[in-house]
Amino acid sequence: MDKPKQGGSILRRFRDYRWDETELLAYKEEGSAPFKAITRQTLFRDPALGCELRYFEMAPGGYSTLERHEHMHAVLILRGRGECLVGDEVRKIETNDLVTIAPWTWHQFRAASDSHLGFLCMVNVERDKPVQPTEDERKAFEANPLVAAFLKKD
Ligand code: MN
Repeated sequence: MDKPKQGGSILRRFRDYRWDETELLAYKEEGSAPFKAITRQTLFRDPALGCELRYFEMAPGGYSTLERHEHMHAVLILRGRGECLVGDEVRKIETNDLVTIAPWTWHQFRAASDSHLGFLCMVNVERDKPVQPTEDERKAFEANPLVAAFLKKD
């Protein structure tokens, strides 16, 4: 029987926000950047196609790292709700919403305090390393009250 090039079966069943044959990984290396209560599963990766599809999930109150980079993200919310910072905008997000993050745009995702937040994130296989804001950049964010309120939920 034919198998997809990049390992795994043609069909991996979904149950409780886990996929068969798919390892539950740490979001990033501990201590490499600020984040909280978030896991990662790599669902698909193909160097010829040039993309990777990952599923990230945050427990209530969890958040991803505030970062930016050259590569883009297409983010499809698959579970729960929360909010995201994209550029200088704070937006509420819920299941089935689609968020596009343009190159070099600051972004961070946060689960609501009473809800998980899970999303699919498509990226390039070959991609640049994210950078985090400097102290001065962080101060500039805090000049915007809505952004400041979002960032203070750490
Ligand atoms: Mn990112």
